[in-house]
Amino acid sequence: MVEGLLLDIDGVMVTSWEALPGAVDALRRLAGLGIPRMFLTNTTSLSRGEIADRLTAAGFDVAASEILTAAKLTAEYLMAHYPGRRTWVLNQGEISSDMEGVHLVGPDEDPEVVVLGGAGEVFTQAALSRVLELMLRGVPVISMHRSMTWSTDAGLRIDTGVYLEGLEKAAGRKIRAVGKPSPLGFRTAVEMMGVDPTAVLMVGDDMHSDVLGAQASALQGALVRTGKFRPEMLHRLQRDEFGPVPDHVIDSVADLPALVEKLNA
Ligand SMILES: [Mg+2]
Repeated sequence: MVEGLLLDIDGVMVTSWEALPGAVDALRRLAGLGIPRMFLTNTTSLSRGEIADRLTAAGFDVAASEILTAAKLTAEYLMAHYPGRRTWVLNQGEISSDMEGVHLVGPDEDPEVVVLGGAGEVFTQAALSRVLELMLRGVPVISMHRSMTWSTDAGLRIDTGVYLEGLEKAAGRKIRAVGKPSPLGFRTAVEMMGVDPTAVLMVGDDMHSDVLGAQASALQGALVRTGKFRPEMLHRLQRDEFGPVPDHVIDSVADLPALVEKLNA
């Protein structure tokens, strides 16, 4: 039974902000079924309003209030746990306006909290060494997400999760990640929909962050064969008979209405 839908955006609905084939129509059909939905993205630079604008330009009918970004979740986490603290955000690109209300400082302004956003050229040896130094001093480090890769037109790019593993090993301390696949993001979205988590279907192209992460938080998962999907990764998982596998695999979001109708029949 599917009583709520949680959708990843990049690689599922769009790539480079162009709608994937059949995606606009599928979202329209799903809206017609009257099932509550939210969009959960690990995007770190664009705000909810900017994402809604881009999706609208791509042909979708999506409101900013339906979108949860890793930056928004991180801002809420900081307000709850470190209100008013001097926060250094290391992020490729602009700092999202979803972070509004957070007291931002630079790396040399005695930060009390460090936030890691999306990886990119700003993740230099010097910047990451500064993060490690602060971490060793006991300054809490929060990450907007733990994604290992993201997909671009030119292929996969390594993301923040790759650096987290190394920083954690070097410092002997854990970094808390807020976005997918952390249970925090899934829980917040499910609460906003007011649906039991077991009746929520998460749809994504990232096998670990989206699908297995959701399943570990008691949601159902559906993997799409678009975006960053790589068949070898699924095959490797399926060969391990004891490990978790996606509940459902569909060719693309265009097949989602049929899957939801089948599960609800
Ligand atoms: Mg994605």
